[in-house]
Amino acid sequence: MSRLNLADTSPRLPNLAHMSELLVIDDLHASAEGVEILKGVDLTVNSGETHAIMGPNGSGKSTLANVLLGNPAYTVTKGSITYRGEDITEATPDQRGRAGMFLGFQYPEEIPGVSVVNFLRTALSSRTGVDYTVLELRLKVVDAMRELEIDPGFADRYLNEGFSGGERKRNEVLQMAVLEPDLAVLDETDSGLDIDALRIVAEGVSRLRNDERGFVLITHYQRMLDYITPDVVHVFLDGRIVASGGPELADQIEDAGYDHYRSGAATS
Ligand code: ADP
Ligand code: MG
Repeated sequence: MSRLNLADTSPRLPNLAHMSELLVIDDLHASAEGVEILKGVDLTVNSGETHAIMGPNGSGKSTLANVLLGNPAYTVTKGSITYRGEDITEATPDQRGRAGMFLGFQYPEEIPGVSVVNFLRTALSSRTGVDYTVLELRLKVVDAMRELEIDPGFADRYLNEGFSGGERKRNEVLQMAVLEPDLAVLDETDSGLDIDALRIVAEGVSRLRNDERGFVLITHYQRMLDYITPDVVHVFLDGRIVASGGPELADQIEDAGYDHYRSGAATS
């Protein structure tokens, strides 16, 4: 530093405004098989915030979740994704996972022959760079299971093989609890969740909510928001966010649907 300025005489405070930004999506455009699906998504999630993204079927919500986690089936054609101040637009899913991002719910695949505990061990080792022994991991999992009131026998079941809908949800919430992501993107299945599954998800999210962690809850249905009160609600239509507001926005959508936004989008 060759020049003194006023700032040099004051304590070095971190730029809190910047540090609180967990995720910044800027004018994101993405396509699959040559068809543009995301058409300019702008979204900022700060530490500690829970955002809900609501929109009709086919509006591109799951595409957004997939692009956020780096699914290679989608190509980003414009714009950027910044996570904790770093441009991750081109990062692999694995790199994003290690950086602390988590995607759940939409595509719970069966992984034959891989137990719940073993899957978590691999995922957590990759996330933290620490090689956990089976025993260490088992202790972590048992702790999380007790918290989430999941039957301990569950740990030895094979991943998603013959899981009921509710068990899949428990498993996803368990993964989230053990992996302790900084940002979780949860995409509700197209068919929606039954009340049991909704409660499991809502309780898991509530337990994990804190001042640092961010959540993006993607849902077609307003019902999820009866269980989790988000800080911000966004309306997603035709590949972008067309309106944002507080939790009351979800109630308005429940009453009036998306038509109002559709006509709004058509004339603007
Ligand atoms: P939502 O989750 O809001 O229902 P999606 O993101 O699943 O919406 O889909 C938005 C649109 O993009 C749909 O028309 C869908 O068919 C299309 N789409 C999504 N994924 C792909 C893909 N991998 N290949 C081709 N088209 C896709
Ligand atoms: Mg979807």
